[in-house]
Amino acid sequence: MPTYNPPLRDMQFVMHELLNVVDDFKQIPQHADIDVDTINAVLEEGGKFAAEVTFPLNISGDSEGCTIDQTTHAVTTPKGFKEAYEKYVEGGWAALGCDPAFGGQGLPLVVNQMFYEMLNSANQSWTMYPGLTHGAYASLHTHGTEEQKQTYLHKMTSGEWTGSMCLTEPHCGTDLGLMRTKAEPQADGTYKITGNKIFISAGEHDMAANIIHLVLARLPDAPPGIKGISLFVVPKFLVNKDGSLGARNGIYCGGLEHKMGIKASATCQMVLEGAVGTMVGQPNKGMQGMFVMMNAARLGVGNQSLGLTEVAYQNAVVYAKDRIQMRSLSGPKAKDLPADPIIVHPDVRKMLLTARAYAEGGRALTSYCSMLLEKEHNHPDEKVRKDAGEMLAMLTPIVKAFLTDNAWTATSACQQVFGGHGYIKEWGMEQFVRDARINMIYEGTNTIQSLDLLGRKILGNNGATLRKFGKLVGKLVEEEGVNEKMAEFITPIAILGEQMTKFTTEIGFKGFQNPDEVGAAAVDYLRVAGHLVFGYFWARMAQVALREIAAGNTDQFYLAKLQTARFYFAKLFPETATLMRTARAGAKVLMDTDAVFA
Ligand SMILES: Cc1cc2nc3c(=O)[nH]c(=O)nc-3n(C[C@H](O)[C@H](O)[C@H](O)COP(=O)(O)OP(=O)(O)OC[C@H]3O[C@@H](n4cnc5c(N)ncnc54)[C@H](O)[C@@H]3O)c2cc1C
Repeated sequence: MPTYNPPLRDMQFVMHELLNVVDDFKQIPQHADIDVDTINAVLEEGGKFAAEVTFPLNISGDSEGCTIDQTTHAVTTPKGFKEAYEKYVEGGWAALGCDPAFGGQGLPLVVNQMFYEMLNSANQSWTMYPGLTHGAYASLHTHGTEEQKQTYLHKMTSGEWTGSMCLTEPHCGTDLGLMRTKAEPQADGTYKITGNKIFISAGEHDMAANIIHLVLARLPDAPPGIKGISLFVVPKFLVNKDGSLGARNGIYCGGLEHKMGIKASATCQMVLEGAVGTMVGQPNKGMQGMFVMMNAARLGVGNQSLGLTEVAYQNAVVYAKDRIQMRSLSGPKAKDLPADPIIVHPDVRKMLLTARAYAEGGRALTSYCSMLLEKEHNHPDEKVRKDAGEMLAMLTPIVKAFLTDNAWTATSACQQVFGGHGYIKEWGMEQFVRDARINMIYEGTNTIQSLDLLGRKILGNNGATLRKFGKLVGKLVEEEGVNEKMAEFITPIAILGEQMTKFTTEIGFKGFQNPDEVGAAAVDYLRVAGHLVFGYFWARMAQVALREIAAGNTDQFYLAKLQTARFYFAKLFPETATLMRTARAGAKVLMDTDAVFA
């Protein structure tokens, strides 16, 4: 059976030694008084909740899955899920990062993100239910009318009601412009919505009294394509004026999908038959409201993969220290045993270090992004808000795609550490791999993320935001360029930073002549950009570690950080050279292939 220990020490390192979040909070009025001890105490309790309440349900939930009663359309989650959710609500965990105006605790987003990392490590399927609520909450909070906010946000903040996002239809996932679900305006200002949605996570379940669906649909006179989509809030139960639950609305689950992983997360086929909803935002501008939710969800999906990478790593290390097979190539290490623990073998270490480097790099990046989100929404200075928003927009597809691709590699590597036992269910490792796979697909596939990054976020503004990130790299290079001890970390990012400018211009130029060139380069490009960003954070983490060691700090934590940084730069970062080469190979070898597919 797998185990899970909340990585509180590394979380504290990222927040208080790398990002110094409390200094930033001093500039943000609603967090000006928060201190290190409060943050640490909340996360310690959050870690206990994840490890003690939801982690024990991970394997059983996977085996049992969700079930549907085809007569009543009721969906039952696996044994223990509902009770764990009750504890989550009772403990006030749903309200952690929410607005105090709606009963939230108003804690910084980075605290909520780290809490969610632990929930995802413990049980990704269970975490989908409250996780989607946060996205729906954010969308209503930003674009809802006062009445919609008052009707829904209090109960979503408390966790009594959950949320879902209903975009996908059988014939359209990536291309939402093809959507067919219809919304007919009614005399009382509401809409009657009719259509079929598929793959809706947490679309129906037994954990909360009401489910607040955010549904994309088309008005009768809507222009075709993506510019004719509007957003509606559609509750499972209509809500009376006094806030009590009213009639059952015409939205129900017609069936559940049977899937490769996250089996305890209900993936629902949703039928809307004249379901009553109200519009969120403006007619035909539904994607604006939905993007708030999708952006939150994209960061959330990166965080799901971070959680899986961490838990897979923890278990693989324990196993590698315990399992004995063969002798070390450089001579026996455990002479009192008939063979050495497999951790003596270089390739086993490589697999473990890959997962560790991806987990710790991912934690630094997601936390940095949470701070950007915090500044974008709550910083009093308009310029800081704008800059943070732009940087976050560029980093979001990297968090979604780079972290989820890395988790696929990392969970698979950790499964490999177990040899044949990794393929056997009871060890839990194959579940981490299966669960990790969906993260590369939903919330916009990783290919779509790469097109968003290269096409919209980078070429779309002539590389302006990328140059801003380049300035951060440049500042670090300037600071540490003469420090010999930092050379192994600084030189690679300085070189890649310079190469990136030329690389981007080159693809932009080729793409101008033939847009397929952008499509052919985008996936490789995102990985290169991902390494530039990870490289920057790994160099900064090495900087902190070196500083502590130089000051005489003998805590092994810093040495471990330094050794992981060395591994990252020596073994993972260099793939950027190959990726730039394959990106440069261009579109012709892909598109001039009609004979292959004839
Ligand atoms: C378990 C699960 C949970 C989900 N949860 C939700 C949910 O809660 N709410 C919701 O609305 N949806 C949900 N989805 C749907 C998910 O977001 C979509 O499956 C995903 O966006 C891809 O859409 P699709 O399946 O229609 O694939 P398609 O859009 O048909 O894509 C097929 C392939 O073509 C590629 N492709 C498409 N267009 C391009 C292009 N322009 N350039 C290059 N490649 C392209 C894609 O990358 C992909 O590889 C869920 C799906 C699953 C499996």
